[in-house]
Amino acid sequence: MSKHIVILSGDGIGPEIMAEGEKVLAKVNERFNLGLSWSHELLGGCAIDAHGVPLPDQTLEAARKADAVLLAAVGGPKWDTIERSIRPERGLLKIRSELNLFANLRPAILYPQLASASSLKPEIVAGLDILIVRELTGGIYFGQPRGVRTLENGERQGYNTDVYSESEIRRIAHVAFQLAMQRNKKVCSVDKANVLEVTELWKEITTEVGKEYPEVQLSHMYVDNAAMQLVRNPKQFDVIVTGNLFGDILSDEAAMLTGSIGMLPSASLDQQKKGMYEPCHGSAPDIAGKGIANPLATILSVAMMLRYTFNEGEAANAIETAVGKVLDQGLRTADIWTEGTKKVGTQEMGEAVVAAL
Ligand code: ATP
Ligand code: MG
Repeated sequence: MSKHIVILSGDGIGPEIMAEGEKVLAKVNERFNLGLSWSHELLGGCAIDAHGVPLPDQTLEAARKADAVLLAAVGGPKWDTIERSIRPERGLLKIRSELNLFANLRPAILYPQLASASSLKPEIVAGLDILIVRELTGGIYFGQPRGVRTLENGERQGYNTDVYSESEIRRIAHVAFQLAMQRNKKVCSVDKANVLEVTELWKEITTEVGKEYPEVQLSHMYVDNAAMQLVRNPKQFDVIVTGNLFGDILSDEAAMLTGSIGMLPSASLDQQKKGMYEPCHGSAPDIAGKGIANPLATILSVAMMLRYTFNEGEAANAIETAVGKVLDQGLRTADIWTEGTKKVGTQEMGEAVVAAL
């Protein structure tokens, strides 16, 4: 059976950047003879407009049957006033949990051509290549009980529960160690084991899993220190593995080391490495329809999809190399433009990557 991808262009800049992602996909499919096919479905605001819900059954069914899902971005001001339970973002959370995408991979790679766009000094970030592995379907974002209750004295109290079972920790730890084996063989597990029991268990289980990967060097770091080390000396890290809350915060912090959010892809994987791939940024309604959005995060998401779901490392490398080439040529969308480089639009950038391939 052919390997199938469901494409969700979504809202805002989504259709513009996905058009370029698709051109790149078509090019590598042909050049590397990958035998991939793809089709389009609706998610987010466009699905609300067409069917009244952000995640129509047809989209969910197609995504379940597919080998991978490629998503641009969802949401926008048009849908911000509708009832909370059917907003575009709910469709996104629902598809992630329905597909059981528990492993969120967010690489933070600095392209040397963009060193001056980083928030840090060039010598601190030059050559940066780290991978944050965030647990995505557990922890305090999903733990029960949760809510806001009224105490006897009439005061209200908000509460959430941070829970991780051994099996949840074990499976995300395996993902991190396996990825480290393909990289520089270092895993840093981030916790707050000195204060939180749930992360004490996290530390214990990651240590246990680490024994199955004797080649990988495992370290543990408290989250406050990790946040500091990421801006002090980020290159000490290879793979960082952590829970949902800490991963959310640290991955955004790491993203800023690389310059623009318009450059960063992500992958969310299930146990079988079926995945959903999407840029880290949102639907950017402020620039939608102008043809100026950076398509590279989406294009690099295509590369991650080829590497992690389809095991086509060579094709993935080719895309990443092509992106490096267009940056070498001095082409920049507005978000990464600096003095002396050539400003191009979404389409010109996408087509330059295709040409470089
Ligand atoms: P979400 O809640 O969906 O993550 P957000 O509110 O975090 O969305 P984004 O949509 O990511 O916001 O946009 C944040 C800023 O980054 C905006 O100014 C937007 O124009 C810019 N931006 C986002 N993506 C791109 C891109 N691909 N190219 C250029 N600029 C972008
Ligand atoms: Mg955001």
